[in-house]
Amino acid sequence: MVRIDGSKGEGGGQVLRTSLALSLVTGTPFTMTNVRAGRAKPGLLRQHLTALKAAEAVGAAEVSGAELGSKEVTFRPRALAAGNYHFAVGSAGSATLVFQTVLPALLMASASSTLMLEGGTHNPAAPPFDFLTKAYLPLLRRMGPSVEATLERPGFFPAGGGKFRVDVRPAPLAPLTLLERGRVVRRDLKASVAMIPFDVAKREMDRANALLKWRPDEVRSEELKRSTGPGNVLVAEVESEHVTEVFTSFGERGKPAETVAEEVASEVKRYLDAEVPVGEHLCDQLLLLLALAKGGTFRTLPFDGHAQTQVDTMAHFLDVKVDVRQVSREVCEVEVRG
Ligand code: AMP
Repeated sequence: MVRIDGSKGEGGGQVLRTSLALSLVTGTPFTMTNVRAGRAKPGLLRQHLTALKAAEAVGAAEVSGAELGSKEVTFRPRALAAGNYHFAVGSAGSATLVFQTVLPALLMASASSTLMLEGGTHNPAAPPFDFLTKAYLPLLRRMGPSVEATLERPGFFPAGGGKFRVDVRPAPLAPLTLLERGRVVRRDLKASVAMIPFDVAKREMDRANALLKWRPDEVRSEELKRSTGPGNVLVAEVESEHVTEVFTSFGERGKPAETVAEEVASEVKRYLDAEVPVGEHLCDQLLLLLALAKGGTFRTLPFDGHAQTQVDTMAHFLDVKVDVRQVSREVCEVEVRG
């Protein structure tokens, strides 16, 4: 039984989700104390409870502490099963994070799976659906498995109600090398609004493009039709020869459209200036995939708390070595060896 202190490092939901993912993959049981102790509302929120229950279903696991607010969880997987699963967060909590919790196990399963996920699809502090389909899944496919996600309905905070489907066809994970970004071949800046004035999207576009100075055919705004509640998201996509990265900011009450634009523009600029292929968020998510593949290397921005926490959490379950070499002030080279 592995014992993990959930307050270590980031002290957020990632420690729990990564532990669930790797417990399923390795069959190693664990107990976690101080679940999400580093967050304002500690313990299991709906999203984390759904991730725990999803992992329980996929791994026919014995679980204790599966309650809202719980700060201690024990998880003992028994048998991994591919299949058709439906997981609903029941709030606007991120359904993409629930998906990423069970994905590694389903990649290792002996048959294909289909998942229906409901909840938030476009959440701050979580991988937005566009990031999943344009940045994360293409890299995963490059490593072997076929994983396709289709959005049925977007879900924003606070209404939630988003829905997407994922088809997972497992294959052995091959190591990935991603040291160069290559030439930028396409840029796309898109402001989307649902049930809020279209003018907000226009202000975001104007401000973001005053900073980024992309061509008129690279910027657009759209009205999202199928959302069950109001929402606003600004997404910048940078497709390069070897990788696509996606940067996101969300509108919220009291936050000016111009601030949303400035957040995205500064993330894009930092990424482009550093000339790395992998941005801050993709980094911690890619680390886990490379650890599962038992090898790979990539260049990225200096490690943030999530990346370091990912490395520390993986060490409880996997015998992989992660070397991080600072190449220059804004560039790190990461090597994972199994
Ligand atoms: P936690 O804060 O511990 O719940 O973990 C949040 C997870 O969401 C981490 O894997 C982050 O890399 C990921 N994440 C947060 N914001 C974004 C974003 N804008 N795009 C992609 N992934 C994100």
